[in-house]
Amino acid sequence: MNLVAEATPKPSETEPRIATAEFLAELANQSTRLESATPEEIIAWASERYAPHLTMATAFGPEGCVILSMIAEVAPETYVFNLDTGYQFQQTLDLRTRIAEKYGVEVDMLQPELTVPEYEVKHGGPLYETNPTQCCFDRKIKVLRQAALGKQAWMSGIRRDQSADRAQAAIVGWDEKFSLVKVSPLANWTKSDVWKRILDKEVPYNPLHDQGYPSIGCWPCTRALADGETDDRAGRWSGSAKTECGLHTIQESDGSGI
Ligand code: SF4
Repeated sequence: MNLVAEATPKPSETEPRIATAEFLAELANQSTRLESATPEEIIAWASERYAPHLTMATAFGPEGCVILSMIAEVAPETYVFNLDTGYQFQQTLDLRTRIAEKYGVEVDMLQPELTVPEYEVKHGGPLYETNPTQCCFDRKIKVLRQAALGKQAWMSGIRRDQSADRAQAAIVGWDEKFSLVKVSPLANWTKSDVWKRILDKEVPYNPLHDQGYPSIGCWPCTRALADGETDDRAGRWSGSAKTECGLHTIQESDGSGI
């Protein structure tokens, strides 16, 4: 599939970040065309079109590690960062080193303005206990917004079969929240596809996945699945109605939430 030749011209550095109807239609066309492409082809297309204004945020989940292994092959110049909230598991932080050693991909660790002690003093204790939405906003969303400045597109590891929120994710779409084109190379992969790739290619992954944690975020808001639980994200913000940190619950431009 010759995706690069079929792609529309690269956007200029001054391309308006206003999502016009024409712009959205063009993204929708690209997304439809890329439905049958491999993740590597999608990443190569995104790099061809948006580099050096292409970026990727990773929490070192299985999908992120797979994409990092692909980036190393087809788009090694991509700027990749982690939202280093200060509350990540040590196993997650160690994975950054393992990825760098295997692929030479250095993931930039972006921290919020306040350290964890400063933040907890400011709020009279850990905000994740009383207002996790605000905590995620301060320690993830604000940092991502800062990282998005000067960028035109970002890649994510979301898959449609992960949750109802993600079921309508496009391969290429407009991310209203961050004013970026959002590219999801694994949108139509399954969990089995991801783990087959990890095992076949010996992609480094978080050892907590072997201890009952299918989905891993910050340690205060993540637990292992209990017996009988089948929803991979049941251990995230367990006991609250919150299911997403807010990075991927995006209002589409037509107002329909995904
Ligand atoms: S996942 Fe929990 S600890 Fe991490 S930023 Fe969100 S609320 Fe805070």
